[in-house]
Amino acid sequence: MARVEFRKVRKEFTDDKKDPFVAVSDSDFVINDKEFVVFVGPSGCGKTTSLRMIAGLEKQSSGDIIIGDRVVNDLHPKDRDIAMVFQDYALYPHMSIRENLSFGLKNLKKPKNVIDEKVQSAAAILGLEDMLERKPRELSGGQRQRVAVGRAIVRDPQVFLFDEPLSNLDAKLRIQMRVELGELHKRLGATIVYVTHDQVEAMTLGERIVVMNKGHIQQIASPKDLYATPQNMFVAGFIGSPAMNFMDARMEGNRVITESAEFAVPDAIAAGLKKYQGQRLIMGIRPEHIFGEDFSLNVPHDHKLQARVQVVEHLGSENLVYFNVGKRLITAKVHPETHTFVGQDKTFILDMSKAHFFDPETEQRIV
Ligand code: ATP
Repeated sequence: MARVEFRKVRKEFTDDKKDPFVAVSDSDFVINDKEFVVFVGPSGCGKTTSLRMIAGLEKQSSGDIIIGDRVVNDLHPKDRDIAMVFQDYALYPHMSIRENLSFGLKNLKKPKNVIDEKVQSAAAILGLEDMLERKPRELSGGQRQRVAVGRAIVRDPQVFLFDEPLSNLDAKLRIQMRVELGELHKRLGATIVYVTHDQVEAMTLGERIVVMNKGHIQQIASPKDLYATPQNMFVAGFIGSPAMNFMDARMEGNRVITESAEFAVPDAIAAGLKKYQGQRLIMGIRPEHIFGEDFSLNVPHDHKLQARVQVVEHLGSENLVYFNVGKRLITAKVHPETHTFVGQDKTFILDMSKAHFFDPETEQRIV
């Protein structure tokens, strides 16, 4: 059973002159056997440190780390039965691909026939069979990345750890490798923990995603749930592109009053906001849930907002239209044939069934 669990795991870095810096703060999670879990968050949020603690490359300041059925707190990295794939691949340049793949197994003193078999099988899985005698410099970025994954596969570990493995590839290759990694996971049936700062990568690869900010886990959920019910404004703003819009609002009866318009909210949302009558709220609405009036066929037309268009970006498959509500700049992702131009006074339709509401003090989700 290759589950990974953190129980109140904390990591402080101590610098002689300063107070200790908390990189990971009392972190609790369970990654299930065979699950693909992605850690995502902005630079410096503590995701690599979390991964390195699983690997044993960094020792936690407190708390317990469990891999399989063992507490691994005091186990050396090589005894944890994990394999890590790094951002820079860390291949040996003077060795052939075959030697790179077999190196770890030779160190473990595995018999030659076992090594040959495992290298051949990994090469077949990754499409590297014709390249085994080449040196890393004779391979493309994507092929080198596959060798790095191959080195992990031959070790047959309980858990694979990936630290931003695609960040050195160009956009097209990244998408291709993303698909390959997803398929590899299905084929190997392995537990994978994957770190990235790219929310699109997280959403496409992760069965569940751990969103981190400033050393704290913000939410752990499936991509679908993160998008539909972000638990706080940080997650709401981080997941989704372009980011969710926020507007200052107030609740009166079953109506939400913003600086530009009033909207009736659906009953289910109104019920959730009952306790907030007359109080300040933050309303969140994603750009894709705002429509131009002329291209809003399947949305009820009773939630209108009038605004002057500030900027229009034509992206081909859609247009991004920017306008102000109060001091906040709002983005709408509209159909490319929506008639818009800068300076236009335009009517937008909001799909209020997709609106989110947050407490302005705690920034936590209300409904
Ligand atoms: P990135 O996406 O930029 O790699 P990250 O989320 O992976 O960021 P970490 O590498 O986990 O972030 O670092 C978390 C915090 O801990 C950062 O503020 C970093 O500066 C700090 N940190 C990491 N390693 C050390 C160290 N050895 N000594 C002191 N501080 C460190």
